[in-house]
This record gives sequence, structure tokens and C-alpha cells, in this order.
Amino acid sequence: MGTVGEMHVTGSGYVGLAPVGNGLTNVSVVADQRTVRGRPIDWFRQVISRIPEVQSRLARAEFTGPLRGAGPFARRSTRATADRAVLVGDAADFYDPFTGEGVYAALRGAELLASTVSSRLESDRLDATNLTAYDRARHHEFRGKWILERIIAWTVGHPFALDHAAKRLASKPHLADLLVGVTGDFVPAKQVLRPGYTLQLVW
Ligand SMILES: Cc1cc2nc3c(=O)[nH]c(=O)nc-3n(C[C@H](O)[C@H](O)[C@H](O)COP(=O)(O)OP(=O)(O)OC[C@H]3O[C@@H](n4cnc5c(N)ncnc54)[C@H](O)[C@@H]3O)c2cc1C
Repeated sequence: MGTVGEMHVTGSGYVGLAPVGNGLTNVSVVADQRTVRGRPIDWFRQVISRIPEVQSRLARAEFTGPLRGAGPFARRSTRATADRAVLVGDAADFYDPFTGEGVYAALRGAELLASTVSSRLESDRLDATNLTAYDRARHHEFRGKWILERIIAWTVGHPFALDHAAKRLASKPHLADLLVGVTGDFVPAKQVLRPGYTLQLVW
């Protein structure tokens, strides 16, 4: 492993490698739940074995803990409020790991909730109509990232598009830096959701 994380895309999901120091690497498989068959550990090894460049490097690796699973996450909510209830973080919305930064979304979502709803909490005005400011704030804050997530998910699901985008990003580091900045939530999504960026990525 080098100093960067890696995502290896296959036709049936992807494998993420994240070095965490001291010779340890977090190896994750993200896949459609319907493709998980038999014992999870056998399935995990099978997925790895389909990616030669990962398989060869993990050939002598040892597990330092049990294999853990989580999910399914493929859920979307159209709104994050109801009478006397609000959703925050993963309960409201889960980002595809390729786009990432669910921790940021959870923390920022909590800030938005605090700033839009706390006064209503004090006066106990908590019916859904009084909570819509939070939904609006979420849309304003996250809409660009939601759109980008769908574009990235589509690209990851279409090998030709992914290969093309990866080649363009490799040859134009400033485009890659912008995209990483947006997925990392320190550059506004509108910086990549503009025709000029798309044109440079496609042609
Ligand atoms: C394998 C994996 C890797 C990830 N890597 C990253 C990453 O690198 N960067 C990143 O930003 N995000 C990452 N994420 C996403 C990130 O972990 C989540 O988006 C984030 O933790 C969501 O925060 P949350 O507070 O909404 O939910 P959680 O962190 O899931 O917190 C919910 C808590 O509620 C508790 N709970 C559930 N039910 C009850 C109950 N009935 N009563 C009491 N408590 C309950 C749970 O035990 C849990 O502690 C990753 C997710 C996974 C699964």
C-alpha cells in the first residue's frame, strides 16, 4: 500500500483499500445485497479474487479481526421531517461510499437542525409544517452533493464512462482535485456541476 486510499470497481460492486498505519489496511467490499451468497467470508474472498491487482497484494495478508458487515443502505427519504419527528445523518440520507463523507453530512445536518428547529422546540411547535425549514435547509446545503452522487453512481455503473472519466482525471489533476474537494465537502458542488467542468471531463 502507498499513502493513498484505493477504490477498485468490478461489474458487481467495488473494493476499497484504506491504509490505516502500522501495516494495517482496511479492506471493504461494497456490493448489492442480492449478490451476497453463502458464508460472508467466502463471498468476501471470492469478490477479492475477481480483482487480480488486489488479490495478488492481499495474498499474504492476515485478518487482524473478524469480518464485519453493515447495511443495506440503499434507502432514500424524500423528506426528513414528520409530526414531532426529524431525521438526521444516515437516517435521513446515506451517501454512496464512492461519493463519501457521511460523517460530514451527519454533523452538518445536526447543525442545520439545531439552527432551524431549536426555537420551535422551546415553544413545542413541532408539527410537520413547523419543521419544513429544516427540510429546506437540507436541500439548500446538500442538493448539489445529491446530484453529484447520482452522476458518480451512474458513472461507476458504466465501465466505459468510468474508464474515460478516470483517464481524463489522471491527465488533468486540477479537475481531479476539484472533484475530490467536492466529495470531501470543502469545495462547493457547483464548482463541478457546470458545463465547463463537464466538457473538460468528456472531451
Ligand atoms: C464501512 C463504512 C465505512 C465508512 N467510511 C466513512 C468514511 O471514511 N468517511 C465518512 O465520512 N463516512 C464513512 N461512513 C459513513 C458514516 O459512518 C456514516 O454516514 C455516519 O456514521 C452516520 O452518522 P449517524 O450519526 O447518522 O449514524 P451512526 O454513526 O450509525 O450512529 C447511529 C447510532 O445510533 C445507535 N442506535 C441505533 N438504534 C438505536 C436505538 N434503537 N436506540 C439507541 N441507539 C440506537 C447505533 O448503535 C449508532 O451508534 C462509512 C460507513 C461504513 C458502513
